[in-house]
Amino acid sequence: MSDAFFSVSFSDARGRFLAACLKAGARVTSYDHPLRGPQGEALATDVAWLGDPSARRVLVVGSGTHGVEGFSGSGIQVGLLAGPDAPRPPPGTALLLVHALNPYGFAWIRRVNEDNVDLNRNFVDHAAGAWPENPGYADLADALVPRRWDAASLAASEATFAAFVRDNGEDAFRRTVKSGQHTHPDGVFYGGRAPTWSSRLVERICREHLADATHLALIDVHTGLGPYGYGETLTSVHRGTPEEARARRWYGEDLASTVAPKTAYSGSKGSIIVGCTEGAPWAEWTPIGLEFGTIAPDEVRLAVRADGWLHLYGEIDSPEGRRIKKALRDAFYPDDTVWRAKVWARGAEIVAKGLAGLAG
Ligand SMILES: [Zn+2]
Repeated sequence: MSDAFFSVSFSDARGRFLAACLKAGARVTSYDHPLRGPQGEALATDVAWLGDPSARRVLVVGSGTHGVEGFSGSGIQVGLLAGPDAPRPPPGTALLLVHALNPYGFAWIRRVNEDNVDLNRNFVDHAAGAWPENPGYADLADALVPRRWDAASLAASEATFAAFVRDNGEDAFRRTVKSGQHTHPDGVFYGGRAPTWSSRLVERICREHLADATHLALIDVHTGLGPYGYGETLTSVHRGTPEEARARRWYGEDLASTVAPKTAYSGSKGSIIVGCTEGAPWAEWTPIGLEFGTIAPDEVRLAVRADGWLHLYGEIDSPEGRRIKKALRDAFYPDDTVWRAKVWARGAEIVAKGLAGLAG
């Protein structure tokens, strides 16, 4: 049943989302993206308001911050609009569904956007040049995205990684690769050196839809890390802060931290959570990420690197290009109805908790 919420392409996802909005009577605002998808299709971020039109307590549910990861978030959003058992916003609250914040990455099956930027590393103070430093990245850059993608070159990369782990440890390796870098525009997990179309849009959405809000929550849906099919709730604020305590009350004690000293997460800076809270600083925010596990971290990393190579040096429209795209898609959106059913069930559960917390 819930499988009908999930899509096979960006256009398919957008069509299902807009059709469900119409049926549910949600108010839709579309923001056209200047570029096109691989089939020449139009790209856009669609924003839907569901519930009390004058609500001041609003739960924002976001999909596609990391492009290709949008398949799962889109499925949850369509389910929230169309599912007979979907949680409904109680009086005084509303849902704001932000569909495909990074529509280019969604359509082109990439984590990053049209500028090769990882949006969850992009919300930093560019004007001040206050980019987080990651000096170790330079040692790994050529090995992460090598000039050639063949067995010899990949073996050389593995040797570089092994040497780095030997000298610095496994945790430092993971942090260096994934925490974000602002020095290699062609590299992986690049945070950019300027705001992007999508990050400017976050500010605009806050201004145009959330100006009267007093209490705001965010559930930003991601995939690619953690146990297969399980959705982990994540906070990026430190333990003991009122915001963290509130999120723990709403979502449960198993709320994970991206900033704890020992974490599977990278401790990256400049996430969408920063973008939202700075975009609507007048409201009290309770933002979380919801991350669904797919395949093993090494395989996800390999798929991301291959995609980086493909867009720099390869041919998308070739047998190899199609192989790499399929691997990337499978790494973030397993072709498995059981996995998708779990995503919907967990998504609905967390949204219900968020709405209950907001209604307070
Ligand atoms: Zn993500």
